[in-house]
Amino acid sequence: MKLFRFGDPGREKPGLLAPQAGRVDVSAFGEDYGEAFFGSDGMARLQRWYAEHAAECPSVGADERVGPPILRPSKIVCVGLNYRAHAAETGGKLPPEPMLFMKSSTALAGPYDDLPLPRGSRKTDWEVELALVIGKRARYIEKARWSEYVAGFALMNDYSEREHQKERGGQFVKGKSADGFAPLGPLLVSPDEIDVSRLGLKLRVNGQIMQDGNTADLIFDVPTLVSHISEFMTLLPGDVISTGTPEGVGMGRNPPVFLKPGDVVDYEAELLGAGRQRILESV
Ligand code: ZN
Repeated sequence: MKLFRFGDPGREKPGLLAPQAGRVDVSAFGEDYGEAFFGSDGMARLQRWYAEHAAECPSVGADERVGPPILRPSKIVCVGLNYRAHAAETGGKLPPEPMLFMKSSTALAGPYDDLPLPRGSRKTDWEVELALVIGKRARYIEKARWSEYVAGFALMNDYSEREHQKERGGQFVKGKSADGFAPLGPLLVSPDEIDVSRLGLKLRVNGQIMQDGNTADLIFDVPTLVSHISEFMTLLPGDVISTGTPEGVGMGRNPPVFLKPGDVVDYEAELLGAGRQRILESV
């Protein structure tokens, strides 16, 4: 299944990308894609419902804004330094176990929303990533059972203000949490439709390729991450885990490159679709 959401920010409706019908409105199912939906086997229930009601579902117009494919989650957990070449470009050593940090859930945005820079930002940077959405309450889960706990995969850009991240108190959260810093989607793709062990990820700034990586190079893979993170916290249905970024971020360049108003960032992953942000002045 491929889910998406559409409509104005905060008032999105649930949609489904159907094999024949294309983008359809499934509001009549009566549930949006959040904790209650994922935590009650919503994906399977929606699939059964759609099989019976496909003919009654209106199509979604091409001019509709695409929102994030899920409701605001309880948390967004991110993994730092999870590709060897990226660890090297940031000057870090290879981590002996996953390095985790949190991103504010209010950073969540649609995949084509404009991004106004945080006030005073001089070092806003990009990070294309594979993200996953939790499908079932998870605590101390075994690696071999990871797939029972994942509802699907989505494309994310883990925007990062490097000055706020590294020079303003010594913890990542300030640099990762600004509004719009977590564009997610367009699609949430269920695990049966995608192999994330070998997935290409690309990102361009103003048309110039900056990141060209593959999840085959992850240090800690998806099963390891789901198990490891659940050792330290309860993961709720609808929570997001973003798995880290390949090399090619702006701060790793010589000289470093950071985003400025007028820049356009676009990125893509096989089977997950593409995202794009115009960078704007602060508001
Ligand atoms: Zn990241």
